[in-house]
Amino acid sequence: MVWSSARDAGSYLWMSHPSVGVEDHSVGMVTTGPPTPAAPGAERSRIMRGIRRFDTRPELLVRSELHRRGLRFRVHLPVPPAPRRTIDVALTRARIAVFVDGCFWHSCPEHLHLPSNNRDWWHWKLGTVTARDRDTDGLLRAAGWSVVRLWEHDDVESAGARVEELWRRRCHPPSTSAP
Ligand SMILES: [Zn+2]
Repeated sequence: MVWSSARDAGSYLWMSHPSVGVEDHSVGMVTTGPPTPAAPGAERSRIMRGIRRFDTRPELLVRSELHRRGLRFRVHLPVPPAPRRTIDVALTRARIAVFVDGCFWHSCPEHLHLPSNNRDWWHWKLGTVTARDRDTDGLLRAAGWSVVRLWEHDDVESAGARVEELWRRRCHPPSTSAP
């Protein structure tokens, strides 16, 4: 993946959006050929239409890695006090909420490049996403959950190891001496 070659929002999203360029063509997104230049407004609405919240490829990879490690989970579980939001991967018994955040929408510090058009609007828009993420984290922690935020660029194996270690700690807390 060559981030620096993205010249505008269209090519950036083409290259970076997790659901583009993979085999899954079932979601009605932009899946045929590279995007053509568009007017700012049209471009923006096209990008907005491209938002895909569920079952992104990085999310599927994380799920299969956790499954391989013997962890069982529910997907897209509603956030307890905010049911319109969902937990990407929820290990319910251990109360671990795993989110697989896309680099663009969640403003990854390594890979975020704002589209060249409508920068102010994008700055605002992505800011609202980040604010909602932090709010979701707070709600979950207040309800006794542990929150793990993974980036779509994270190595899936170490991400799995991180979740598994946390799961062991929460399900089998080390207790060396019984009273
Ligand atoms: Zn990233």
